[in-house]
Amino acid sequence: MTHHDHKIVKSGYHGLWFPEYGFSLDGYHPKADFTFVSHAHADHMPRNRNCTATATGATLALMRRRGFRGHERELRFGEILETDRFMATLYPAGHILGSAMVFIETDNGSILYTGDYKTPPSPATEGFSAPNHADLLITEATFSLPIYRWKPVEQLGEEIRQFAANSLADGYTPVFLAYNLGKAQEVMHLLAPLGKEVMIHGAGFKLCDVYEEHGIELGNYRAYVREECEGKILIAPSSALGNGFASNVRKKRVAYCSGWASNESRRSQLTADKLIPLSDHLDFFELIRFCKELNPEKVLITHTPNPDVVMHYLEKEGVRSGHLELEHEDEES
Ligand SMILES: [Zn+2]
Repeated sequence: MTHHDHKIVKSGYHGLWFPEYGFSLDGYHPKADFTFVSHAHADHMPRNRNCTATATGATLALMRRRGFRGHERELRFGEILETDRFMATLYPAGHILGSAMVFIETDNGSILYTGDYKTPPSPATEGFSAPNHADLLITEATFSLPIYRWKPVEQLGEEIRQFAANSLADGYTPVFLAYNLGKAQEVMHLLAPLGKEVMIHGAGFKLCDVYEEHGIELGNYRAYVREECEGKILIAPSSALGNGFASNVRKKRVAYCSGWASNESRRSQLTADKLIPLSDHLDFFELIRFCKELNPEKVLITHTPNPDVVMHYLEKEGVRSGHLELEHEDEES
């Protein structure tokens, strides 16, 4: 029996460092020859200027817009990066534009690292595909309880368009609360068939042309201008409303777009008129199904509030799993 054990060390905020192979995932390490970045969300993006980030072209472009000043090595989906210690391939993760799962093949077995991922994929991404098998799967489990089962995105898109159209017809300005990167552009993509003018908060606006350059239709939009925003469809992060966004518009209706919107216990904390459970992560049942289909020797769960629940469901499916316990750097000899 073979054991595909690899030394995995915490690196930075969320990053993983593999000293045996000289690469890190979603975090900078000074000794790393290769730093793979799964996507351009802040909690996965290295900040160090000495870092050479290996990622898809879309991820690198989004990282630059968000302040990354290090070096870049583009790796296209499906292209193989061959080194003396491993081979690496990126697979589209369906989470946000450019998002990738990292597949590493070593003499001691293969590793699939998901980053954040979604299947079925968000329509504002390059889609989703995965290798047939990996010996070790390292997966996030953000929505790690069986209360999280998403509606099809086609249905959520219809809800989004109806909310916007009905609000406008009633003389209200619709406001969608959505993250600046990923969710905002997905909402815009789903709104595009309406043909109405959209105004997006500046922090999200500066990322939109990267989406369009990669073939994602975002419809008729421009940057938010306070004096002209009444009667337009508005998109902003949830923090913006408290900072005066559209505060000059008296009649507005607010829709909160997030996977967390499906959780009843959080509803009372929100003051939105409508909650749209549009997530850019896969739901609990897709997570379990994905792990089962990949059939790894072991699943290591990370980025999760409830590892025990996921492990319990995986055990019922005959999949061996554990919570990723990271070794500390200072224990290294
Ligand atoms: Zn993310």
